Amino acid sequence: MINLETPKKFEFLVGQAHQVASEIFRSNSRKYDGDEHSYPKELDMLAAVIDGMNEGGALSGAGAGGVGEGNGKKPDRDGNRNGSNIASLLGLIELSWGDVGLLLTMPRQGLGQAAIAAVANEQQLKRFGGKWAAMAITEPEAGSDSAAIRTTATLEGDEYVLNGEKIFVTAGDRAELIVVWATLDRKQGRAAIKSFVVERDNAGLILERLEHKLGIRASDTADFRLENCRIPKDNLLGSPEIEPKRGFAGVMQTFDNTRPLVAGMAIGVSRACLERTRELLTEAGVEIDYDLPPHAQVAAASEFIAMESDWEAARLLTMQAAWMADNKKPNSLQASMAKAKAGRTATDIALRCVALCGSIGYGERELLEKWARDVKILDLFEGTQQIQLLIVARQLLGKTSAELK
Ligand SMILES: Cc1cc2nc3c(=O)[nH]c(=O)nc-3n(C[C@H](O)[C@H](O)[C@H](O)COP(=O)(O)OP(=O)(O)OC[C@H]3O[C@@H](n4cnc5c(N)ncnc54)[C@H](O)[C@@H]3O)c2cc1C
Repeated sequence: MINLETPKKFEFLVGQAHQVASEIFRSNSRKYDGDEHSYPKELDMLAAVIDGMNEGGALSGAGAGGVGEGNGKKPDRDGNRNGSNIASLLGLIELSWGDVGLLLTMPRQGLGQAAIAAVANEQQLKRFGGKWAAMAITEPEAGSDSAAIRTTATLEGDEYVLNGEKIFVTAGDRAELIVVWATLDRKQGRAAIKSFVVERDNAGLILERLEHKLGIRASDTADFRLENCRIPKDNLLGSPEIEPKRGFAGVMQTFDNTRPLVAGMAIGVSRACLERTRELLTEAGVEIDYDLPPHAQVAAASEFIAMESDWEAARLLTMQAAWMADNKKPNSLQASMAKAKAGRTATDIALRCVALCGSIGYGERELLEKWARDVKILDLFEGTQQIQLLIVARQLLGKTSAELK
């Protein structure tokens, strides 16, 4: 049975994340939105605090750093486990309420860690755990269709040699590690795609450019060329065997962990929109009365309540997906449902909040216009809205990716 209250043991974590979000993220939001590509040095101090708290066990997974199977928490009386997936989700919701662009460039975090946690062996977890890790899947010819990637990995002695191109890598320039998807043998299709850990300072990993973007401008987005990029053989995550029966299952497991987290970011940003809109509506004299039916409310209040209930549905789906991961229940369907619902709902809420607040919502004196720009990416990366719906349809109808494209 799912208990919908925030577990007591995570209240401290949520409180700390909220404090960081309101005191550090919000006060630097505008600065790094305007100053794209400059590194938010204020976050370095934060990294030291987070390291200290992690060592003390106080903050197990305020971001994407701690998520994965190794949550090892004992179940409570009702048999529920609340481990690193729920902890990370709750932390990310708070931090994204502050500023999702800054969250995405927070040292020691990065979705690459979730990828490592999903497939790494124990020795790899020790070597790579706790480092800032980005994730590089997308290529010029492979976006939604990640099975089409062309980057190759060839075994030469004790090393893999990587060659190819990776684009739109979040935190790619600033992270310490990049988890790169590459194929061991293109002829063998998706089963040959594996993930490899590349150190950012590897001479074969060449930065081509940094993107300029609509939103999350505090976060760097890098394009790379991999040119005879040599890495130790042990940097292949998971099994080096090509198992046609397992198909894409190995690397795809990553998404079961990361999609609920991206959904959580959408929940955080849209909660910020709702809270600020409520304040502005109240200042304008609009009363929101939950005891009145929609037709008896002022139109703005009725719209606000409708948005809130949609937000709640997205939040619950997201909590469910993360809870299932902590309790070792297969959650691919719920992870995609949560990502689709939260991404769409949050984008919708952000724009409707701008509309409800009119010129105030559109101007730069409020963060609403920024949140409306930032939120869009959450319905795009880690699989677009359309791709999530496709995955949900395949799972519900029992179709393979070849049968339903
Ligand atoms: C700011 C930013 C950060 C990013 N960070 C990362 C990162 O860290 N790592 C990484 O690997 N990638 C990252 N990406 C890339 C992102 O994951 C891809 O952009 C995304 O997967 C979509 O791929 P695409 O852009 O090639 O679009 P396409 O795949 O070309 O899709 C274009 C449109 O067609 C739709 N579409 C495609 N196929 C289907 C289908 N079968 N059915 C219905 N509709 C379909 C899509 O939903 C979309 O609307 C990032 C992108 C951005 C913009």
